[in-house]
Amino acid sequence: MKTFKNFIAGKWVAPATGQYFENRNPADTTDVIGRFPLSGPEDVDRAVASAQDGFERWKRTPAPARGDVLRRVGDLLTERKEEIADLMTREMGKPLAETRGDVQEGIDTAYYAAVEGRRLFGHTVPSELRAKWAMSYRRPIGVAGLITPFNFPLAIPTWKAFPALVCGNAVIFKPAEDVPHTGTAFVEILLEAGLPPDVIQLVHGAGEVAGKAIVEHPGVALISFTGSTETGRIVGETCGRMHKRLSLEMGGKNAQIVLDDANLDLALEGVLWGAFGTTGQRCTATSRLILQSGIHDELLSRLLDRTRELKLGDGRKEATEVGPLINEAAREKVERYVEIGVAEGADLLCGGRRPENGKLADGYYYEPTIFARVEAGSRLEQEEIFGPVLSVIRVETPDEAFRINNDVKYGLSSSLYTRDVEVAFRALSDLDNGITYINAPTIGAEAHLPFGGVKATGNGHREGGWEVYEFFSETKVGYVDFSGRLQRAQIDNYPT
Ligand code: NAD
Repeated sequence: MKTFKNFIAGKWVAPATGQYFENRNPADTTDVIGRFPLSGPEDVDRAVASAQDGFERWKRTPAPARGDVLRRVGDLLTERKEEIADLMTREMGKPLAETRGDVQEGIDTAYYAAVEGRRLFGHTVPSELRAKWAMSYRRPIGVAGLITPFNFPLAIPTWKAFPALVCGNAVIFKPAEDVPHTGTAFVEILLEAGLPPDVIQLVHGAGEVAGKAIVEHPGVALISFTGSTETGRIVGETCGRMHKRLSLEMGGKNAQIVLDDANLDLALEGVLWGAFGTTGQRCTATSRLILQSGIHDELLSRLLDRTRELKLGDGRKEATEVGPLINEAAREKVERYVEIGVAEGADLLCGGRRPENGKLADGYYYEPTIFARVEAGSRLEQEEIFGPVLSVIRVETPDEAFRINNDVKYGLSSSLYTRDVEVAFRALSDLDNGITYINAPTIGAEAHLPFGGVKATGNGHREGGWEVYEFFSETKVGYVDFSGRLQRAQIDNYPT
C-alpha cells in the first residue's frame, strides 16, 4: 500500500506522530488508495514556523508575479484535468462528469486569480486638505489556515488558496480526511508551477487534532473554513477568543420552489440535478421541493418516474448518474433521517434503502429517496441530511412558498421556477439566501461571483469573485502631505 506524506518546510515528510489512516474508494471499499498521515500539533508547529518564513519573502513578491504562478497552476490543471478527475472520483465517488467540473472550477479560479494579481484595487480619493493625497490599498496578512470539506476536493481548496496566495499570504492546508489524495495532487501542482516551497504547507489528519491545532495556533493569523455548521461553531469560538480573522462557509437546507405557471420540463430537470447530483452531498443541494398545488401531482409523478431510473454506480463508469455516499457514517446518517421521516408521518415514495443489487454491496450506496406530504417545521424539512433525500412540500401560494423557504436556520441557496417576472424579482429580494436562481437549480455557482450564505450558513464573508480578496487582505490607508506645513484635518479647513 502506498504511504503518502505531509509537505512541511519544503519537504515531503512523515508525520511526527508516526501514525497514519487509510483512504478507501467509497464505490468499492476493497480498493485502498493509500495511507495518509495522522498529523499532530508538532507537525502543525513545524508547518507554521516554515510558513512564517515563507510569508516574509512572498509578501514582498510583486502581486502580478504571484499571479503568474497561478496562471501556471491553471495551465497544469488544464493539462491534468482528466487525471485529477479520475483520482478524485476514485476517492470521493461522484461521477467523472462532476469531478471534471470540480477541476474546471479550479482552472477558472486560477485564471481569475492570475489576473487579480494585476488589480487588487484600492481607492485614491481627494483629501479635504490642500497638497495632500489620500488612498487605500491592500496588504497581506500572514499565515492562512485553510480547512476544507470532502465534497469539492479540488474546487474548494482552490477557492481559498488562490486568493490567499495572490494577496501575499502563506498557506497551511488541511484537506478533509476522506479526500487527502486530491489534496496531495493539488499541492504537487502548486509546487510544480513554481510556488516557493515554504509558502504552502500540507498537513493531513483528523479535524479534531490537526485541524484544531491549526485553528488554535497563535502563528496562524486567519482561518478559512468550509464544513458543517457544528464544526464551524467550534472553529468560530476559538477564532473569536483569539481575535483571528475567520471566514465560515457551512451547512444548507436549500429549496427549489415550482409555481403553477412554471415550465415543468425545466423544473423537472432542475430538481433531478439539484437533489441527486453529487448524491445530494453539496452544500447547495436541493433538499426541499416546494410545489404549488396546481402542478404538485403532475410534477411529483414525473419526478418519481425519472428518479427510479437514475443509474446508481461507480462514478468512474461513464453511464453512472449517482455515485456512492462518502463513507459509512454518512450513509447511516441518511438512514436515520429516513427513519425520522417515516416516524414523522411523511410518505416515503421511492428509495429509502440500500440498493439490493449485489454488485453495489462493496460501496456506500443509497437509493435516491423522495418523501412527499412533508410538514413544514418537521425535522426532515428543517435539518441538513447531506445525502440523496428530497422532501416535497405542498403549498397554495407563492407567499407560503417563500415563507417556508425562509423558515429554516440555514440560508445558502434557493431556486424558483416561474414565468412571472414580478414574482421572480420579488424572490430575489425576499428569499433569505446568499444565492437565488430563477429557472435554474439550487446548484451551479460560477467561480467569478461571490459565493456564500446567510444565517447559520455563513458569517458574512464570501468566497469566489472579487469579494474573497477582501477577506484575504488587510485594507490600509496612506496619507501623503506635501504642503510643507502642519495641516490639521477637520480644524484648519473649517476655521470658525
Ligand atoms: P466537517 O465539518 O465534518 O469537516 C470539514 C473540515 O473540518 C474537515 O477538514 C475536518 O477534518 C475539519 N474539522 C473537523 N473538526 C474540526 C475541528 N474541531 N477543528 C478544526 N477542523 C475540524 O464537514 P464535511 O463532512 O467534510 O463536509 C460537509 C459539510 O460541509 C456540510 O455541512 C456542507 O453543507 C458543508 N459545506 C458547505 C459549503 C459552503 O460553501 N457553504 C461547501 C461545501 C460543504
